[in-house]
Amino acid sequence: MNDTTQSCPRCGASTTGRGMGGGGMGRGGRGMGGGRGAGGGGQGMGGGRGVGGGGMGRGGRGMGGGGGMSSGIGMGSGRGALPGNEFDFGYADRTDHRVRHIAQIRADVAASPRKPLTADERDDLMLMREEEKLARDVYIRLFEQWGIRPFDNISGAEQAHMDAVLALLEHHGLPDPAQGLGVGRFRSTDLQKVYDNLVEQGLRSREEAIRVGLHVEELDIADLQHAARRTDKPEILAVYAELERGSRNHLRAFYRWKQMLGIDYAPQHLPAAEFEQTGLSAHEICD
Ligand code: MN
Ligand code: MN
Repeated sequence: MNDTTQSCPRCGASTTGRGMGGGGMGRGGRGMGGGRGAGGGGQGMGGGRGVGGGGMGRGGRGMGGGGGMSSGIGMGSGRGALPGNEFDFGYADRTDHRVRHIAQIRADVAASPRKPLTADERDDLMLMREEEKLARDVYIRLFEQWGIRPFDNISGAEQAHMDAVLALLEHHGLPDPAQGLGVGRFRSTDLQKVYDNLVEQGLRSREEAIRVGLHVEELDIADLQHAARRTDKPEILAVYAELERGSRNHLRAFYRWKQMLGIDYAPQHLPAAEFEQTGLSAHEICD
C-alpha cells in the first residue's frame, strides 16, 4: 500500500490517497495495461511500456487492467498507483471535503469588504456562475448516457464551484442568473446554445463525450483567466483561483481518458502547449 495523506491548504480537510502497489509498476509512464482494443486482444497499450500486468504508469496516469471497450474501459484490476491522490482523483468520494471547503470559501467571502464592483467584474461573475452550471449540467447529462465516473464525480465539483460563485454574487448583492433554472436550462441564449451543442456532441459516442469534457474545461480555464485579469478584488481572485485549479484537475482527468482511448483532440480555447502541459502535470490539491 502506498497511502498518502495530505491536507487541503484551504480547508484543512485531509485527502487520503488510495494508492496501492498491486500490479506491475514502472516509470514507463503513461502507458496502459490491458487496455483498449475491443474485446480484449487489444492493441498495443499493455506489455511494452514499462507496465506490468494490471499495470500502472507512473503518477497514475496509466490505467490498469483494462477491459475492452465494451466492459468499461480502463478501470481494471490494476487500479491504484502512486501517488495515490493523483490517481484517485475522479474516483474518490469527495463530498465531505467539498462541504467543508465551500463553508470555508463562504466564510472568507463574507469576511471580505464589500467594495463596489466594476461592470466587468459583475459581468464576469454572472458569466462564471452560468459557466459552472454549464459544466455541471453537461456532465450530469453525459453521466446519464455513458455512466463513466469522471462525469459523475466532476459534476459534484462543478456544483461546489457554482456555490462558490453564488457566495460572491450574494456578497455583492447581485442577482443569480441560474436561479430557478433546472438542469440544461440557461438564462443566456449563448450558453443555452453551447449547452445544446455540447450535449448533442457528447451523446454521439464516449469518445465525443471525453472531447466535450476537455472542451468545457479549457473554455472554463480560459474564461477564468480572462475574468481574473479584470478584477483586483482579493475575494474574487481567490474564488477564481479555486475554480481554475479545479478545472486543471478536471482537464487532467479527461486527458487521461483521452490517452486511454487514443482520442485526438485539438484545443480551441487554450494554447496547445498550455493544454498539453496541464493535461500531463500532476493533480493539485484539492478540487
Ligand atoms: Mn468548474
Ligand atoms: Mn470543471
